[in-house]
Amino acid sequence: MSYIDEVIDLVVKKNPAQPEFIQAVKEILESLRFVVEANEETFRREALLERLVEPERQLIFRVPWVDDNGNAHVNTGYRVQFNSAIGPYKGGLRLHPSVNLGIIKFLGFEQIFKNSLTGLPIGGGKGGSDFDPKGKSDREIMAFCQSYMTELCKYIGADTDVPAGDIGTGAREIGYLYGQYKRIKGVYEGVLTGKGLSYGGSLARKQATGYGLLYLTDEMLRINGIDIKGKTVAISGSGNVAIYAAEKAMELGAKVVTVSDSNGWVYDAEGIDLEALKEIKEVKRARLTEYKNYRPNSEYHEGRGVWSVKVDIALPCATQNELHLEDAKMLVENGCIAVAEGANMPTTLEATEYLQNNNILFAPGKAANAGGVATSALEMSQNSERLSWTFEEVDSKLKGIMVNICHSMADTAEKYGVKGNYVVGANIAGFEKVVDAMNAQGIV
Ligand code: NDP
Repeated sequence: MSYIDEVIDLVVKKNPAQPEFIQAVKEILESLRFVVEANEETFRREALLERLVEPERQLIFRVPWVDDNGNAHVNTGYRVQFNSAIGPYKGGLRLHPSVNLGIIKFLGFEQIFKNSLTGLPIGGGKGGSDFDPKGKSDREIMAFCQSYMTELCKYIGADTDVPAGDIGTGAREIGYLYGQYKRIKGVYEGVLTGKGLSYGGSLARKQATGYGLLYLTDEMLRINGIDIKGKTVAISGSGNVAIYAAEKAMELGAKVVTVSDSNGWVYDAEGIDLEALKEIKEVKRARLTEYKNYRPNSEYHEGRGVWSVKVDIALPCATQNELHLEDAKMLVENGCIAVAEGANMPTTLEATEYLQNNNILFAPGKAANAGGVATSALEMSQNSERLSWTFEEVDSKLKGIMVNICHSMADTAEKYGVKGNYVVGANIAGFEKVVDAMNAQGIV
């Protein structure tokens, strides 16, 4: 049995209740065959892959908090510090009822390669809780965040582990988490990113993942001789990534016709009204059913359906495994030319394969959505320097990073004889730097 198959088997045996983690490991290790088989003996002797798939540290803790009616609740908190070979652990905190250890491990594992691809010195980590922020008052959110940080603060710091936002963790939650960290530790340091501008946040961080997704998509189309201008785009989700992906797509001359949330989706043939979307989601924190009040000619549908619309480009920006094989088939049938993942692992393995086999340009999340963590690393740099850069400065660095990532995944794919396979290109490019650092640092 090949070394890669042995390690996949080991991961399946050791983590039977973690399907998302197994999926992420399979996707990444399968695409590393070229490199691993060329170094099989050394990697096996040094247990390189076993070390890669085993987090350096996994923290699971109780998060008790009291609601507005005086009732106590208990959630489970997680932080997985996966790999610090190239820098301090870096990765967001997800607050969603679906969160469990397997989901945090899949996200942390992906994060190692994504962070490496940015070219910046950041290791991989991820955290969160099964707490559901929906329907909670600000006081309840604060109570949860303070309790979560009371435990987490023992394990993080500006030079060890720097968490950020993710699903359910936006500017409000980061503020409460930061306040509690500072209160307990008594230091004012860049221990979290995605902070507000008045206390160490970076301009353009809010926009970074969505904008970065479009910078990379634009470059990927360009190197394939296609202009994004005039193209029709389907976006799923209506959170941070989706909103700013839509904004940049429109700025680049494309027309965005869909957005969704976990209840349903909107089709607006004339193009999504961004101001209305921001007001509904960022100000009112309401559901997409409201969109029709702003745009009577739009359609609202319950359930899933974004990928059934005829578009040129699909940008899944909601959550993992939201674009299935049947969706991929509909996209291909409708003449879609490119899919770029704003979310983490939104496309199932079968759907990814189908899209690639049908010559759809496919940019995997670890490359396409790396703009968020890259800008988080820029926020860390500004905090260390005690300086704030202008929006234009951060945005232009972000654009440079995304263009570099695009070329790095394309060039690496070509170098290994699989031109156009950006999944393989991104995984190998991310892997090479981490492995080099792991080898240099010995068996730790
Ligand atoms: P938000 O919480 O701001 O938005 C998430 C969006 O996805 C919401 O519209 C939400 O709908 C929808 N959604 C979440 N879970 C589900 C589900 N199970 N089924 C259907 N829809 C769902 O999160 P972000 O925009 O920050 O994150 C979106 C994705 O991008 C995630 O995969 C995240 O890991 C990834 N990502 C985010 C980065 C960032 O900087 N924020 C960086 C890199 C990746 P509803 O409101 O109804 O729950």
